[in-house]
Amino acid sequence: MRWIRIILSPKIAINHDVCIHCLKCVRSCPAEILISESSKTQKGIIKVIDPKSCFECRACEVICPENAINVMCAIENESAP
Ligand code: SF4
Ligand code: SF4
Repeated sequence: MRWIRIILSPKIAINHDVCIHCLKCVRSCPAEILISESSKTQKGIIKVIDPKSCFECRACEVICPENAINVMCAIENESAP
């Protein structure tokens, strides 16, 4: 029998075009990996500071009123031991 080790990596896609910057996702994230970043020239945008710490609870996705967040799970690495 052949064993394969699969490492899953969460990916959080944020659609900045529809985001209204309500910050509900930032407040709902138990891993505290979503932040709001803004500058003098740019309105605040939501960023993921540490995707590997996401445990795919989807709280951010569910709470977003604009459906601007999509949490996906992708295969990052596949190897035979
Ligand atoms: S899925 Fe959960 S842990 Fe991951 S970014 Fe969203 S709220 Fe945070
Ligand atoms: S919950 Fe949705 S609309 Fe609100 S800041 Fe987050 S991504 Fe933007």
